[in-house]
Amino acid sequence: MSSDVQSPRQLFYDGEIKSATSGKSFQTLNPSNANTLADIHIASNADVDAAIASADRAFPSWSQTPPAARARILQKAVALLRERNDEIARVESLDSGKAYTETSTVDVLSGADVLEYYANFIGGGGLNGETTQLREDAWVYSNKAALGVCAGIGAWNYPIQIALWKSAPCLAAGNTMIYKPSEYTPLHAQTLAEIYREAGLPAGVFNVVYGAGDVGSYLTSHPTIAKVSFTGQVSTGLKVAGSAAGRMKYVTMELGGKSPLIILPDAELDNAVNGAMMANFYSTGQVCTNGTRVFVPRGWKEAFEKRLLEQVEHVRPGPLFDEATNFGPLSSAIHQEKVTEYIRHGIETDKAKLLYGGLGKPSLPKDLENGYWVRPTVFTDCRDNMKIVKDEIFGPVMSILYYDTVEEAVRRANNTELGLAAGVFTKDINQAHRIIGQLQAGITWINTWGESPAEMAVGGWKKSGLGVENGRKGIEAWLQNKSTLVDMSGTVPTVFAKL
Ligand code: NAD
Repeated sequence: MSSDVQSPRQLFYDGEIKSATSGKSFQTLNPSNANTLADIHIASNADVDAAIASADRAFPSWSQTPPAARARILQKAVALLRERNDEIARVESLDSGKAYTETSTVDVLSGADVLEYYANFIGGGGLNGETTQLREDAWVYSNKAALGVCAGIGAWNYPIQIALWKSAPCLAAGNTMIYKPSEYTPLHAQTLAEIYREAGLPAGVFNVVYGAGDVGSYLTSHPTIAKVSFTGQVSTGLKVAGSAAGRMKYVTMELGGKSPLIILPDAELDNAVNGAMMANFYSTGQVCTNGTRVFVPRGWKEAFEKRLLEQVEHVRPGPLFDEATNFGPLSSAIHQEKVTEYIRHGIETDKAKLLYGGLGKPSLPKDLENGYWVRPTVFTDCRDNMKIVKDEIFGPVMSILYYDTVEEAVRRANNTELGLAAGVFTKDINQAHRIIGQLQAGITWINTWGESPAEMAVGGWKKSGLGVENGRKGIEAWLQNKSTLVDMSGTVPTVFAKL
């Protein structure tokens, strides 16, 4: 038996690991070699009901716990996450197929940063309302109240980071949560629940159920759930938001993108190429904010492609725990098939010019041959109406689009139903801000790509989502406002006085 095998995952509610009553389970695999990692027990509807009941029982006390006391518990969890970074990152690599060079430096830490940010925020009075003196003897004050029992639904690309980006503001605001990770990367969820428990989080405040879309659908449409925070595909998000709207639940939707990266003629070539590389091949292209439509001035064609072809040689697929590896497999067989079909479509139907990569796997050690690998791929001279240019592929597939004028580049960049991210590379700072002002996206970068710190509120425009995560704005989505007008004049004005 391989040492990579993990203990089975059951469910977690009422502060304990609980067996699922469905009698069903699925297996999670290591995408780099297709070996089985663990059995995951699937929650029945009765199990989801029990987890929700546990969160409902915990809500009155947790929501009334003073913010400073909640902050202390969350800070303790931050310390535990940082202490155990390497062991958690190791499991994340096995489960998601991401290189350990990434998971050990980004995935756990970027999640812990957000938990720390919100713990500090509430500990420092961030949940205080406003007081307004209306007139000498009348005041309006406002409070921020927690919503209740919330559901978090995760995608597979940043498993523990997504769990933390949802649970941190949720719990800091005084809500309780049922979290369902993606069925492709479920291993982190129980670990996080155990860390929260060890930090002192009361039973029922953070709970975990496992399963696929049917479990997610039962959970998110449950009448007790006050809010759904969802990360995943646009098509799933539309269903989940539709069902939530029917019960007037709050939603945050973090969905897909097909983001434009615009390089202006005055940009620095090496920076622009490095930006395009990071925006397409980091995490094997499985990043929602990837800049997969790269707009390049036509006059740059030769120089840009030459430099890009030099840089793409530094994409190093290989064993996940090798220090040199910076490119893993795709997360699952089904996703490998989907990305491969897009590459095939690009070559055979769109007839895009293949500059690098293409069908097949990169060259790999023998023990990785069964993994879900694809080659980093670059198409050039692309046209806006190609399927590979229009659809989110969510893999390492770059489309280069040449343009003649900046106005044209901006217009074409905005010509999409999606609006997650966008960015511009230029030395002209005035031009940079002008262009950013015209781009239809919720997350934008100037002369960089991809960094998403705790302080930065992130969320999509158009079909890429609703609401934001992180930053000061991110916690507002987990709170409801109560405004109170208090009159101290001693008389109540009335229009019903006797004439
Ligand atoms: P997905 O939509 O297939 O699944 C996401 C989650 O939803 C899974 O946990 C799944 O089990 C669950 N689910 C499926 N059907 C459901 C239903 N009817 N009701 C409730 N839950 C249901 O997405 P995925 O393939 O796991 O993730 C990749 C997508 O996520 C990409 O489109 C990517 O752009 C997007 N993403 C967005 C962000 C962001 O912040 N905007 C971040 C990461 C990933």
